[in-house]
Amino acid sequence: MSKSSRLPGFYKLSLEERAAVVAELAGLTASEKAILMGKGLSPAQADQMIENVVGIHALPLGIAVNFLINGQDYLIPMAIEEPSVVAGASFAARLVREGGGFTTGSDEPVMIGQIQVLDVADPQAACSDLLAHKSRLLQLADQTDPLLVSLGGGARDLTVRIVEDSPSTSRRGEPVEPSGRRAVGPMVIIHLLFDCRDAMGANTVNTACEALAPEVENITGGRVVLRILSNLADQRLARAKCTVPAEVLAFQTFAGQTVAKRIVEAYALAANDPYRAATHNKGIMNGIDAVAIATGQDWRAVEAGAHAYAARSGVLRSPLSMTKDSSKGGRYTSLSHWSVDADGNLVGTLELPLAVGIVGGASRVHPTAKVALKILGVATAQELAEVMAAVGLAQNLAALRALATEGIQRGHMQLHARQVAIAAGATDDLVEIIAGRLVAEGKIRLDRAQELVQELEAGDEATS
Ligand code: NAD
Repeated sequence: MSKSSRLPGFYKLSLEERAAVVAELAGLTASEKAILMGKGLSPAQADQMIENVVGIHALPLGIAVNFLINGQDYLIPMAIEEPSVVAGASFAARLVREGGGFTTGSDEPVMIGQIQVLDVADPQAACSDLLAHKSRLLQLADQTDPLLVSLGGGARDLTVRIVEDSPSTSRRGEPVEPSGRRAVGPMVIIHLLFDCRDAMGANTVNTACEALAPEVENITGGRVVLRILSNLADQRLARAKCTVPAEVLAFQTFAGQTVAKRIVEAYALAANDPYRAATHNKGIMNGIDAVAIATGQDWRAVEAGAHAYAARSGVLRSPLSMTKDSSKGGRYTSLSHWSVDADGNLVGTLELPLAVGIVGGASRVHPTAKVALKILGVATAQELAEVMAAVGLAQNLAALRALATEGIQRGHMQLHARQVAIAAGATDDLVEIIAGRLVAEGKIRLDRAQELVQELEAGDEATS
């Protein structure tokens, strides 16, 4: 985007005015603007996408403003039902802007496909044989997607390891399997590393793994069972970093340095306690999922990758050693890291796998996803992943700043009050009036909202 995403007062505009601003900035056509205004996915299009379609399920689409990433401005489309998320991202992005914006980076878009081989007589020898045939296997994989190869993608590497089947045990160490279950025996596990360029890559990688299976059986003398991508896409990490000048963090009676210190203290619990880390990471995913849904990504894949990565305990990327099983999980922890630098400024970083695409899946099928991608203006899947990492870090900062100072309930409940008013049956102007009363009374509850709806509607009838 050539113009600034810093749009003071954007939130005060009417819905139509906001849509007009975004359409102008993103160069949307009249029909693309109409898609935003409710002419999106049709029932007939939906019927082509999944099975047993009976209708459309819509979500609000908001735009987070103020994002400056690697010196470039972005308007961030976010599809989400939860209040406060878009406001939080926009607010945090404004703070980060004061420190020069986000800097981001990412790995090449390499996905992992897994092939599971059982009943191998000599697993060690099978691993050596597979590695001896590596270049032929990579060639075979490339043949499954010549278009992708012509675009610079394709098979990059093949690694092997042996995974033992250990029967599950309870927390007390007692076996939980039904009696008589035989261990599966050592499994030879192949990881096919495949560069998917601008695609998320699940279909691409699954096709390649299925194509390799017969040759893998020939080489190993074993029996292939699973041929499927791994959602722990740890070859495809995206990273974001921000430095927030302490003074811009000053808030109410809290000095900027105090807020920075409190944010680091709040982060320390997420770093050391899975109960807090789960909530901390949920806050990060509030932003990432909202962009994922807006742009038609497989957000379950993104979620699975993020949480598996959060449980890695410093374990490396996919195993390159033939025998060592280095993929065993560890303690679940924070995906982000926060500290204070020598100048007293707050420094945040985030790293996670982001298997996202701008071709394939729903990204080029869902009309609103296509418009959202145009608003975002990313040219590659890597750029999309980096923007999403920046949004996740912004969301984390917004939550930590509120939690470490006044708490999140005041801001959150004000927005929540509107939803309570709507749930109680309020419409039009009554929504704001009742939400305001609920907040003023400190009773943001459905029963009170229902009383107010009855009271105010009765008052309206009496005056009409
Ligand atoms: P896809 O097969 O629809 O599209 C990818 C194809 O697009 C590539 O194979 C390539 O031939 C072509 N292409 C054209 N231009 C390209 C470019 N610039 N870069 C890369 N490829 C280009 O989609 P996909 O991304 O392989 O698969 C994504 C879908 O798979 C999603 O809908 C997802 O929900 C689904 N899926 C996910 C899982 C999982 O996550 N576990 C499992 C199965 C399926």
